[in-house]
Amino acid sequence: MNREFESALMASYPAIYRSLEPRFSGGCLFECDDGWYRIIDALSRKLEVESWRSHLVAIEVRETLGSLRFRLRGEVTDAVDNWLTEAARLSQRTCERCGQPATLRGHEDGRVRTLCPTCATAMGYVVE
Ligand SMILES: [Zn+2]
Repeated sequence: MNREFESALMASYPAIYRSLEPRFSGGCLFECDDGWYRIIDALSRKLEVESWRSHLVAIEVRETLGSLRFRLRGEVTDAVDNWLTEAARLSQRTCERCGQPATLRGHEDGRVRTLCPTCATAMGYVVE
């Protein structure tokens, strides 16, 4: 994710992201493309409140198999679990690159990502 979006998330939600660090030196904090910014922003807003209450922290935020994956440390209540599931579902139909409606696409290198038709074509992913 671009640095500007990352900084905005870190500044807006200091509690939930207080333990978030790049997994690799010089890497991203949020390991997905910019199209999911709004999904992460909406989820973060809810998690932030929970974090102040229960010391919940995010330790990993990334794309995996075309879906948004959040790893948390602390008390994951049923409500929190539902928010994560809901955000993951939304990511599975939102272009990771631009935020438009999307589906899971495959690349000949074996990678899969959730992309809209335009981004899939631009990045060499198969459009069905
Ligand atoms: Zn797109």
